[in-house]
Amino acid sequence: MPIHVAIVGSGPSGFYTAEALAKSDTDCRIDIIERLPAPHGLIRYGVAPDHQTTKNVSRNFDKTAARGEVNFYGNVDVGHDISLDELRAMYDAVVIAIGSPEDNKLGIPGEDKDGVIGSAAFVGWYNGHPDFVDLAPDLDTANVCVIGNGNVAIDIARLLVKTRAELSHTDITNDALDAIEAAAITDIHMLGRRGPVEAKYTNKELREMGDLENCVPRIDASILPAAVPEDMEMSDRDRRLRNKNLDTLREFALGAAEDLPKRVHFQFFAAPREILGGDKVEGIRMERTEVVDGRAVGTGEFFEIETNLVLPAVGYRSGGMEGLPFNDDWGVAISDDGRAGEGLYVVGWIKRGPTGVIGTNRPDGQEAAKQILEDIAEGSKPGREALEAFVTKNGGRIVDFDDWLTLDAHEKAEAREGAPREKLITVAAMLRVLDGA
Ligand code: NAP
Repeated sequence: MPIHVAIVGSGPSGFYTAEALAKSDTDCRIDIIERLPAPHGLIRYGVAPDHQTTKNVSRNFDKTAARGEVNFYGNVDVGHDISLDELRAMYDAVVIAIGSPEDNKLGIPGEDKDGVIGSAAFVGWYNGHPDFVDLAPDLDTANVCVIGNGNVAIDIARLLVKTRAELSHTDITNDALDAIEAAAITDIHMLGRRGPVEAKYTNKELREMGDLENCVPRIDASILPAAVPEDMEMSDRDRRLRNKNLDTLREFALGAAEDLPKRVHFQFFAAPREILGGDKVEGIRMERTEVVDGRAVGTGEFFEIETNLVLPAVGYRSGGMEGLPFNDDWGVAISDDGRAGEGLYVVGWIKRGPTGVIGTNRPDGQEAAKQILEDIAEGSKPGREALEAFVTKNGGRIVDFDDWLTLDAHEKAEAREGAPREKLITVAAMLRVLDGA
């Protein structure tokens, strides 16, 4: 009997697990179950629209989905249309690959004001994620504060200052493109609670900030050390990469004489303490910090920035799933290196937290496949037949891989000139295309 494996989530970690199982010598039936009609998770809805080369990996995922052993079940919400326990009763192995879709909180007063938008929602909005189509962020503000010094923060800052010409050949939605073009934004404040040495963005992403049509990076050169201090412990590779970031920031400081209509201000040693205003954000109160033993410690000196839009990009967490052992403090599943129960596995960000690049998920997927094949010699459960019967009996509309190819072709046909696609941004619109209503 083949081993029937359900993979919940169709982002990178889910697809890499499917690929590893499909390429193994063991007879497996692999079903990728996805809440939304469209596959690819973080590639479609998280990777910045102007990073199309990164998004190209989805072609390999489609090749995996097209394999005989693999089925795609889109528009099936585990936890709503079917419970995890029900799924486990149908499959020899269930792999949870749902990532970390929720924002970490700042945990400061005023965070719930109108105009504070976490990166999950904001990135989801410009990427056409059905959960965030109605976000309608108010971009009628000169100053925007982006909190955090990671790649997501830098993605957001860059997208907000790019021109229509710089964005129109990407798969940013038409709505977001129009809103960004019409925005009143002139100054973006990138606020890091620690210093330039501790900044987490990668050098390629940082350098992009110096190569924009309408925007110039600004930084106070006097805070930049010549190099990463010798007594800071890190690998040689990390030291090299961080020194590269310092070099890039220094180049930005030297080039600051150039004047363009928009500016991104790299501000360090500044931690958010309070969001100011009434119902709506009117400003942010920051405290200057110093780094002590690697941690940002307040100095007691405060300053304020006037703004109507605060975008925290301070990392993600998972909300878990009923039936999955979960550490709510850390926002990750509880597992023994991926084994979360009999026939239950976790992979990717829900296993190890939201770090690393897309490719980091590949060894993760291979490891999950290895564990499944070590633990289960032969299948004994019905797998996809039971899933299909269950979902359709309850009136669900499964979106299969051929349906996805129809949606994909539709989006490509609807693309504005030069763009790869115009995304269908609601589940209803996707189903209308499929069912011809
Ligand atoms: P991240 O790299 O962990 O960065 C989070 C940032 O938020 C850090 O600067 C962190 O500062 C800061 N932060 C956390 N809590 C804070 C608080 N309470 N107040 C102020 N600042 C706070 O996370 P991310 O940017 O969400 O990225 C997630 C992963 O996806 C990363 O591995 C990233 O490299 C990857 N990614 C890659 C790309 C790409 O390759 N182009 C694009 C997007 C994302 P501390 O350092 O002080 O904690």
